[in-house]
Parts: sequence; C-alpha cells; structure tokens
Amino acid sequence: MAKKVKEIRVRLAPSPTGALHLGTARTALFNYLFAKKNKGKFILRIEDTDFERSKSEYEKEILQELNWLGIEWDEGPDVGGPFEPYRQSERIEIYKKYLEKLIEEKKAYYCFCSQEELEEMKNYYQSLGKAPKYSGKCANLSEKEAKKLIAERKPYVIRFKVPEKKVVFNDLIRGKIEFDASLFGDIVIAKNFLQPLYNFAAVVDDYEMKISHVIRGEDHLSNTPKQILLQKALGFDEVQYAHIPLILGSDRSKLSKRHGATAVSSFRKDGYLPEAICNFLSLLGWNPGDDREIFSLKLLIKEFSLEKIQKSGAVFNSARLDWINGFYIRNKKLSDLVELILPYWLNVGVIHETDFKNKYLCPAINEIVDDNYLKTIIQTYQTRIKKLSEIVFETDFFFKEIEYEKDLLKWKENSFEEIKKQIDNLIKILSEIKERDWNREEIEKAVLKEANKLTDRGAMLWPFRVALTGKKGSAGPVEISSILGKQKTIERLEKAVGKLGA
Ligand code: GLU
Repeated sequence: MAKKVKEIRVRLAPSPTGALHLGTARTALFNYLFAKKNKGKFILRIEDTDFERSKSEYEKEILQELNWLGIEWDEGPDVGGPFEPYRQSERIEIYKKYLEKLIEEKKAYYCFCSQEELEEMKNYYQSLGKAPKYSGKCANLSEKEAKKLIAERKPYVIRFKVPEKKVVFNDLIRGKIEFDASLFGDIVIAKNFLQPLYNFAAVVDDYEMKISHVIRGEDHLSNTPKQILLQKALGFDEVQYAHIPLILGSDRSKLSKRHGATAVSSFRKDGYLPEAICNFLSLLGWNPGDDREIFSLKLLIKEFSLEKIQKSGAVFNSARLDWINGFYIRNKKLSDLVELILPYWLNVGVIHETDFKNKYLCPAINEIVDDNYLKTIIQTYQTRIKKLSEIVFETDFFFKEIEYEKDLLKWKENSFEEIKKQIDNLIKILSEIKERDWNREEIEKAVLKEANKLTDRGAMLWPFRVALTGKKGSAGPVEISSILGKQKTIERLEKAVGKLGA
C-alpha cells in the first residue's frame, strides 16, 4: 500500500501589535508560495495572546494589506476553516487543556517566585559568570504545597520543565542546528491558565492545525528548540522548520524603522504596486538561480523552492524596488493606471471631482479638465515614474501657473539674449501651426526643423522645456506642448521672454 503523503500545511502567525511589516509580508509570501507549489494549504493565524498590545485595528490592517498584496490564505479568522477558531484569544480552552495535562504529568509546574527573587537569581548566576536562568526552585514544591499557595491566592506562573539536553534539528534552509537546552532553565509557558504565552500557544496550534512546516524569520530560531521540547513533552508530531534570513538595511543591521518605512501600508500609499512588492520581496533571500528579476506570483509559484533560499541576510535595496515598480507601471494597461493614479491627484487637491462624470475641476487655475486630458498626461509619464505618488510633483505644471527663476532658462554658456532669440523663434514657428494641426507630429516637425539648424539643439529645446514646466527634468517639451495646447504653450513662452527681458 502506498504511504499516505502528509498534506503540506503552512501558516503565517502574525501578532496584531503593529502594522504589517515588510518582513512579515515576505514570510507570508514564502509560506504562500510553498503551499501553492506543493498543492498544500496556507493558514493565517492571529497570535493575540498578548492582550495589552494586541489590537483589532492591527489585525484588520494585516488582513487588508495581505489581501492587497494578493497573498491569499485558505483558512483564517475571516474565511474560517476546519480548525476554527484561527484567533488565539478564542482558543484559550484548548490551551488550558494542554496546560493541565503538562501539570498533571509533572512536565510543568506552578512557580510562585516573586520578581525580587528572580532578580536575585539572575544576579547570582551573573556573579558566577554564567548566563542567567531560572534555578528550578518551585519545581520541588509538592502538589499539596502548590495547592495551598494557590488557595492563598499567591500569584504564580506556569513553567515548563525544560529537559537538560541537546536539541538537534534539521532546518530546511540552515541545515543541522544544535542547541544546549540546559542553558535555558525552566521557561514560563503561561501567566496562568487563561494566559498562555507564545511558545506554548504556537506549539499547540501548530499541532491542532496540523501544520507540517514552520517557515518563519530567523529571529525565531532561538524559540525553535523550546518549541521542539514542548512538542515532545506533549506527545505531538514533529514539524519541519525553515528559518528564512533576516532583511537587512544598507548598513547590514536588521531592517527597522531607523532605515525608513517598513510598513507595507507606507509602500502602498507611496505608490508601489502589489505585484512589484511581491516580486521584490521574493528576491530578498530567494533567488531563481539565474539573473531574471521579474516574477509574477504565478511564475513564482512555479519556480519557488526552499532550497533556493540563502542563509545569509538579504539587503533591502530600494533602488531595485523602484526599478521593479517602474517596470510594472510601464507594463500596466493605461486605463488601469489611470484608475490607480487619479486618487493621488484627488488626495492632494490638484483636481476635484465635479457633478459631471469624467470632468474635474483644477482649482489652482480654475479650469475644468476631462479624463482624456488626464489620461494623456499619465500616458506621457507612464515610462518616467517609478512610483505612483511621483505623478503629483512631476506633472504639477499642467495644473497650475508655474514659477521658476530666470537662470533656469539658461543653456550652457549661452547668453540671455541668445536664449531669448530661441524662444522668440519658437513663438514664431509655433504660432504658425493651425489650431487643428496642433499635435505632437506637427509640433515636432516644426521645432526640429529649427533646432536642427543649430550646432546644439539644446539651445532651443532646453529653454522650451523650462518655459513650459519650470523644471530641469520632465517629459519632452514637444509632448508637453501638445498636451498643454497652443494657447498655453505660447503664453508660457511669452512669459519666459518677459522674464528674460526684465
Ligand atoms: N507571533 C509570532 C510573530 O508574530 C509568530 C512566530 C511564528 O511564526 O512562530 O512573530
């Protein structure tokens, strides 16, 4: 008879004590990819046993951002599943049962030591030059003594009797790992029967939820031997572990707020696309074994494997993220990009909605613009922007009167007279183009005809750009003038002449 292959079941177990961090999103992604690749299940479990720090807003945000990233889970607090509930605060009875079992089997005990006593113990070990750990004092209390103290309402915690032995396991990324558990001392696994702590609750849930692989950040490596010992004590099956390398900042220290934004929501607000973030995160620690850099989720599912995850830390390179995001922006369907970009203009008030569909008020110049106009601007900038939010600054000159210093019009060593001459010439040739012929091709033909007569085309094209945009960098002046329209183009050129004459 063929051996029944155990179903692959992995989980993301975030604590809702803050926004969804990029590192957690990457852990989610790797778990998701591993599950999909192996036709397994990806479970979302909310670890909210820290009642003081856990907040439902954070849980909501975590789910929302994961959804936005397109990382879907098969079981979780919102979608349910066969091992409900998926929120630890709703599983207290389950943990209680296992805590009682450990106490009954004398694998765990009540500890009544006060903070002062624990502090003294710590100092004692330190004075001996040893790592501090719990002395095991309360392990020797008889059941009767413990019951008496409980009846007297003496505060206690529950400690697990950590076997004094070596724990060896095979990490799927890091290989053989060994810990000396005699250094741990007996660890606290619950504050009381209603308040289990992370290591204990996670072990119970991984078992109850039939988790086959725990894929998580390397910062959890030191928890693993404790969890393995707890599994053994409870008679649970072993799970496989894979600890993924940390994400590092450019100074090679663990990526944190010090390095800038780390919350997925900040990247979303800044205008990074979910497919770009997933693509970028996938390459933080994993590599396909060649130099490809663009991976859709579908392709990642096909190519992903734990064997291709590196052991060393993965440096967060924001230039790479921008490059990848730019790629996805360039490849977006224009109508989709318009949908994504409009909120940026609306949010900062560059345009306002009106009662008419597809018509917007542009308050700075008190004009109504239509969505075709906006669409053309977006199309012109689609290849230039690296993140959606850049549209606001890059294209501001379409929506307001521009301000700039006269010096900006200067091209290389050319005198102001020289520049004025070029602008006058532009006004002349552009005025000759009929309103109905005002399009990119015609403008380009006329402008290049003149510009090509010069030894340096920049002498005409540079002041042309500045006069229209007030900026050093922008899309080409021909494209811009075609969008701005004849009247505005000539007005802006005349304004430049005015500046130069002053
Ligand atoms: N609640 C833990 C965290 O948010 C989960 C660790 C684990 O995956 O076991 O870091």
